[in-house]
Amino acid sequence: ALALVDVTRSFSEGERELHILRGVDFAIQPGEMVALVAPSGTGKSTLLHIAGLLEHPDSGDVYVGGINCAELDDESRTAIRRNDVGFVYQFHHLLPEFTALENIMMPQMIAGLAKSEAAARAQELLDYMRMGERSSHRPSELSGGEQQRVAVARAVANAPRVLLLDEPTGNLDPETAHYVFEALQALVRASGVATLFATHNMEIAGRMDRCVTLKDGHIIPLAL
Ligand code: ATP
Ligand code: MG
Repeated sequence: ALALVDVTRSFSEGERELHILRGVDFAIQPGEMVALVAPSGTGKSTLLHIAGLLEHPDSGDVYVGGINCAELDDESRTAIRRNDVGFVYQFHHLLPEFTALENIMMPQMIAGLAKSEAAARAQELLDYMRMGERSSHRPSELSGGEQQRVAVARAVANAPRVLLLDEPTGNLDPETAHYVFEALQALVRASGVATLFATHNMEIAGRMDRCVTLKDGHIIPLAL
């Protein structure tokens, strides 16, 4: 469902070139959940942004659902990003002036779903995350763990093919992190979405289908 082929990305820092990704080759099957565990600054967020079509690689191809996104114009790429990719950011990026329910409805409304259908689906996802009672709260009225659950629900609301999570449990206490992970894992199993989950939490990483790391700009398997 997701494949990266020989993806490179560098940043220039003054005189120097930082070669962060030096030829990433990597694929995730539908319904597979892969942990990305690597030290800070090795390029996890950079990789997720490229896989999620938020940024261009310097070279290489990104396939989402079999389509080579490197060959598409901006409009088609944006359509694929909206319809086929769900993203949960390191810091949640919920819209502060909207309720939990409205935040989850947003991507569905953008995709053209009727308001009533979007609301029903959003409520179902909130119930599933054991957040049903909190649908009319704004992000500032929710705890960190609750906000992350809303962010996860929003990311899967459009039934994407690819789900990318950038340390979504990073600022949660262990028990809440555990719970958010369990809810997410069940969603991945039920929906068959291909999932790449960057985390420093080894306990959570160990429960995914497999682990990879970034080493010298390449993705390699990691045995836990
Ligand atoms: P963390 O675990 O701390 O989130 P990370 O593995 O996600 O780290 P990235 O955010 O991908 O790391 O950054 C990788 C490297 O690339 C870092 O050295 C960072 O400073 C650099 N970098 C990232 N984005 C840019 C940018 N837009 N311009 C310049 N350098 C950048
Ligand atoms: Mg990061």
